[in-house]
This record gives sequence, structure tokens and C-alpha cells, in this order.
Amino acid sequence: MNKDIFVVIEHRQERIADVSYELLTKGYQIAEKLGGEVIAVLLADDGDQMAQSLKSYADKVLYIKNEIFKNLHSEYYCDALSSIIGERKPALILFGHTVDSFEVAPALAEQLGIPIISNCVDFDIDGDFVRATVPLYGGKINGEYSFNAENGGIISVIPGAFKVENPQKSGEIEKIEFTFEKEYDDKEFIEFIEAAAGEIDITQAEKIVAIGRGVKDEENIDMIKDFADSIGAVLACSRPIVDAGWLPKERQVGSSGKTVKPKLYIALGISGAFQHISGIKSDTIIAVNKDPNAPIFKVAHYGIVDDMFKVIPALKAKIEEMK
Ligand SMILES: Cc1cc2nc3c(=O)[nH]c(=O)nc-3n(C[C@H](O)[C@H](O)[C@H](O)COP(=O)(O)OP(=O)(O)OC[C@H]3O[C@@H](n4cnc5c(N)ncnc54)[C@H](O)[C@@H]3O)c2cc1C
Repeated sequence: MNKDIFVVIEHRQERIADVSYELLTKGYQIAEKLGGEVIAVLLADDGDQMAQSLKSYADKVLYIKNEIFKNLHSEYYCDALSSIIGERKPALILFGHTVDSFEVAPALAEQLGIPIISNCVDFDIDGDFVRATVPLYGGKINGEYSFNAENGGIISVIPGAFKVENPQKSGEIEKIEFTFEKEYDDKEFIEFIEAAAGEIDITQAEKIVAIGRGVKDEENIDMIKDFADSIGAVLACSRPIVDAGWLPKERQVGSSGKTVKPKLYIALGISGAFQHISGIKSDTIIAVNKDPNAPIFKVAHYGIVDDMFKVIPALKAKIEEMK
């Protein structure tokens, strides 16, 4: 078995997605264990600068250049990747589990006839066996899946699963001008539209009070907004609150929402599903939840096990008193 780990780099508007750096960090640990190399695979048109910024994270940057890669087109991605992978046969190919890879990774696995585990939060390799952890039922339980990676395999990992560490490598850049034998004219890229930041940009907030399904009713939000205002915090939420139409999408924290980096994050009535906590990068997380076994307490620095409707007025009164 080859021992190299390929990390397929995700980028948009010439910016590399955070998940790619997370995967390079994990890929580096796995490659070290196998005695192989971690290789950043960058499919891009004008990718010189991106290739440069990947150098310190990888033993090699494989920069596959073609103007088609200016925008994501899954069939061309698959053809280029399967040709390179077919030639170089890495032990594992890593993707971020994102809307971009949803289209590419499973099709690539099928094209190459290799196994895939999607939606992972962790994985390891032991001999020829890859074992991966996949959250199920909204993160309430974890499933363990494995495959024999004798002929390679694909893992797609949820953003936020690994911390980024720069191993300070100085990987060489190998540039390949790629040409396609086949043309696909069934899809056309029309336009990239940046998501509206909305009136409040939660990604820039220093303090956040976030609500989850525990808020129960839309009418209760005013009281929490009041509390947030009183401590100079911005109101954010978990996905069910957006799904219910109680707060706009730009307030959603998590893998399909925003990643936030406040100094203080107060989670009220939020269970702590992986898709939510992967969007929180905060040094201080305070959780209020009735359920002592709620997964949010595994990541919280301070926790209060109680009814949020009792805790918030008490907290607010105490803060007023201290002011
Ligand atoms: C592909 C995909 C992407 C997703 N993306 C996101 C995302 O970006 N962001 C996100 O948030 N979710 C996302 N989800 C959904 C995620 O899996 C969870 O379902 C969601 O985060 C749960 O939200 P919640 O914690 O508010 O609700 P629940 O899981 O229902 O938790 C409610 C919590 O409130 C507590 N509670 C109830 N009443 C009270 C009270 N009075 N006082 C105190 N505590 C109380 C309960 O004990 C419970 O822990 C995604 C799911 C999928 C499949």
C-alpha cells in the first residue's frame, strides 16, 4: 500500500477553505504514522498564490492547472482527480464534507472503485484498516465505520473537526498543466453570489448569546434579546430556530451556518450537536441546559444545568447589581 495522504483543497474566490488546513493537519499526523507524505492537491486556474500558502502545511503541493478549475465542475474535478490518483495511488484521499465535496467525493469513489466514509468527525488508520467516527441522529450518538484501504479510500470530514497546526514544512510545488480528453457541456457556471452579511455580522461579534430549540416559542426571543443587549452581545442561534423562521439564516452558527470567534459564547437551550459546535471557536463557552447529559457540556467551559427561563432573569439581575 502507498503511504501518502492526499488532501483535496477546497477554495472559492481564490481563498482556501479552513477545512483544508484542518485536513492537512490531520493528514500530516496520519502520514507520519504511515511513514508517508501529506500532499495538498490543488485544482485551480490561477492558483500560484494559493499553492504558495499551502507549502508550509504539506510535503508537496500538487497544483493541477486548467482554466476549467476556476469554478467547481464536478465531472472535470473527478476526471482530473481519478487520473492523478490512478497514477500515484495514495493510501487515503481526504475531502472536507461540504457542499463542494458532496458532488465530487462519492462520484470519485465510484469512478475509482474504492470505499468512502462521509460526514466523519474523526478517523485513524491501523495497518490497512481505516476506522472513522460518524455522528448520527443529529450528533446524539456516534457510529464507527471501517474499510480496508489496501487499494486506497476516501474520507470526508465535517469542517471544524480538527484544530489547525502549521507543521512549518517547505513542500515543493509540482505544477501539472492538465488537459481533458472528454468534454462536459451539461453544466455552466453562471455567477458567484456572495451571501448577504445581513444587518448584523455575527462572525465579527465579541460576545454572542445563542438560542436553540429550548427557547420553545418565538415570543420568548424578545426576553433573550433583552438579556443579550444588556451585556452588549449579539443574538445568534442553532439551525432549528432558522428553520422555524424565528431568526434569519445569517444568525445561524454551525457547519451550514457561520463560524464565529467571540470571546464569550453563551449557549441557551442548545443541545450541542456536532454541526452546531463545529461553528464555535471561542475561548469561553457558557452553556445553560436542563439536560445534564447534553453534549454541549463536553465543550463548555462553564455549565448551568437548569431551566434557561429561570437562569436568564437571575443572571441579568446579578449583572445589573454588579454594574
Ligand atoms: C447537514 C446538516 C447540517 C447542519 N447544520 C447545522 C448548523 O449549521 N447549525 C446548527 O445549529 N445545526 C445544524 N444542523 C442540525 C443539528 O444536527 C442539530 O439538529 C441542531 O443543532 C439542534 O439544535 P438545538 O440544539 O437547538 O435543538 P435540540 O437538539 O432539540 O436541543 C434543544 C436543547 O434544549 C434543551 N432545553 C429544552 N428546554 C430547555 C429549557 N427550558 N432550559 C434549558 N434547556 C432547555 C434540551 O435539553 C436540549 O438539549 C445540521 C444538520 C445537518 C444534518
